[in-house]
Amino acid sequence: MREITLDQMRELLDSPIFHRIGETADELGVECYVVGGYVRDLFLERPSKDIDCLVVGSGISVAEALGRRLGKGAHVSVFRNFGTAQVKYRGIEVEFVGARKESYSHDSRKPIVEDGTLEDDLCRRDFTINALAVCLNGNRFGELVDRFDGLADMQDRIIATPLDPDVTFSDDPLRMMRCIRFATQLRMCIEDETQQALERNAQRISIISQERIVDELNKIMLSPVPSLGFIELARCGLLPLVMPEVAALEGVEVRGGRAHKDNLYHSLEVLDNVARVTADWPDEPDEEKAETFSHKLWLRWAALLHDIGKPRSKRWEQGIGWTFHNHNYLGEKMIPGLFRRMKLPMDERMKYVQRLVGLHMRPIAIADDEVTDSAVRRLLFEAGEDIDDLMLLCEADITSRNQQRKQRFLDNFRMVREKLSDLQARDSYRTWTNPITGEEIMQTFGIEPCKIIGELKQMVKDAIWDSQIPNTHEAAREYMLKCAAGKGLYPVNTENKTE
Ligand code: ATP
Ligand code: MG
Repeated sequence: MREITLDQMRELLDSPIFHRIGETADELGVECYVVGGYVRDLFLERPSKDIDCLVVGSGISVAEALGRRLGKGAHVSVFRNFGTAQVKYRGIEVEFVGARKESYSHDSRKPIVEDGTLEDDLCRRDFTINALAVCLNGNRFGELVDRFDGLADMQDRIIATPLDPDVTFSDDPLRMMRCIRFATQLRMCIEDETQQALERNAQRISIISQERIVDELNKIMLSPVPSLGFIELARCGLLPLVMPEVAALEGVEVRGGRAHKDNLYHSLEVLDNVARVTADWPDEPDEEKAETFSHKLWLRWAALLHDIGKPRSKRWEQGIGWTFHNHNYLGEKMIPGLFRRMKLPMDERMKYVQRLVGLHMRPIAIADDEVTDSAVRRLLFEAGEDIDDLMLLCEADITSRNQQRKQRFLDNFRMVREKLSDLQARDSYRTWTNPITGEEIMQTFGIEPCKIIGELKQMVKDAIWDSQIPNTHEAAREYMLKCAAGKGLYPVNTENKTE
């Protein structure tokens, strides 16, 4: 955190927009402050997009008068229901709101709102570091109001609520998610009282919409060390409420002196490994490519969820120990239900996570055995475009403490990667389609849609993927006819057909 003197603050806010806001407020005879996240981020030297302005009076009136003052190029939107207004000017967005006093009922996070003082408004803010205000009025321009020692907390890297944390969290339980999100994003500690209040109020999260919860989870995911947030969620009891499938990964069982690893902490380690490698990937999708999504967030989701099938597939097998057979396929099956319930997107992003979860054991299985051409080719066909992300996830998945074992896997992975780039150079597997279509099979044998069509296509696919036949239509057709004959199916006489 940097220290900012009054003169420096004046310099930081020395942009025409802040001066025009101050002049407008002076003219209307009201106090006006820039407040919340924007002020916090000035001290933390973080880039900040949205500017929030607090007016002790009507925020809408100041916004409208500011719009007139700025003239052409300013765009004012008023949201009367919320008592707020937004001014857009030369790429800057400023949100105006009047100071308010809030009182809450037990079953809703929507408060009863009345006009209030600056003090009232700062009291209803979530954390001390978010309750800083800087005055924009001419005679007090740049003056900091720090009613709850937010600066000291920022210095000590502490997240604490301005009022009794039980009241703050119970009034609006979304603040619990925000608390953990800020602690993770800003690498700060949650103050003890606040931490205990998280535990006491965790159940209150039930009144918060999934969309708001997911917004916060995504911000935790995109933080440099996302595990910090998930450990905190587990610690205060929010994790089982928000993501029971992930919470179920926690714990170690011992039998006959043999323990399996704690799959929650393993998953979090994998998540952090992936986060480290993807640190400089863009958070947002590439604007040029309209239908793409940023893989940064979703690869991280895949890392968190890759072992989600383990609790249900766990067995103790005599003479072998703990096994988790097919946990990847079970996990793959669980993803759509989890995404639907959490209101995560049910589109390509879900399918991408699903593919990675389903395939995540494959490179390890290959690397554990002899790295054959045909196994690598199969992997390449199935993973398609996602192959690089899959390899990255699998490397992150090797969290063994046994250095020798770890090195052996990493060496084998290098071989898999080398073979992959060899094969990629030779063939264009990323866009592979079966040279034999269902249509062709139906015409050849004069049959209607039925199971056998899929079976024949699968046989052709297997033969190509295992390098038994070349990837050409001619070879594929010949092979398909042979397989069909094996099933007692022969081409219809096409001459008869045309008669
Ligand atoms: P970011 O923009 O990075 O999410 P922020 O702190 O700016 O962080 P916003 O949601 O933009 O968060 O909110 C702006 C300010 O409004 C906050 O700094 C805080 O003072 C206040 N605020 C937002 N949400 C709440 C809430 N649920 N309860 C209390 N105060 C809130
Ligand atoms: Mg903000």
